[in-house]
Amino acid sequence: MKILWCWRCRMELPMLDEAEYKKAYELYGKSIRSREGTYEERFKELMDYYEEVTGFTKTIPNAIMHHRIAQYGPPCEKCGKPYRTPLASFCAACGNKRPSSSE
Ligand SMILES: [Zn+2]
Ligand SMILES: [Zn+2]
Repeated sequence: MKILWCWRCRMELPMLDEAEYKKAYELYGKSIRSREGTYEERFKELMDYYEEVTGFTKTIPNAIMHHRIAQYGPPCEKCGKPYRTPLASFCAACGNKRPSSSE
């Protein structure tokens, strides 16, 4: 788990690493397939897991699934926000050209 700036939510949020994401993805899939209980009941296991990993409770299942460290790039050298994708050639927040990108 790592706190990163999310481009979609426009705020800093806990993101899951690959091992954590894999587990969350399994729970998410299970919840989606379940036909029992209310929306909250079905996703409870996923929410509990997310809280256990991040200590963060205010979220929705769909948001958890896009909070994955691997889909973002490393932090910008200038402003510290993550590049939008691992392959981004410039920072969408401050316009900094990524030094290591090959064009
Ligand atoms: Zn987000
Ligand atoms: Zn930047």
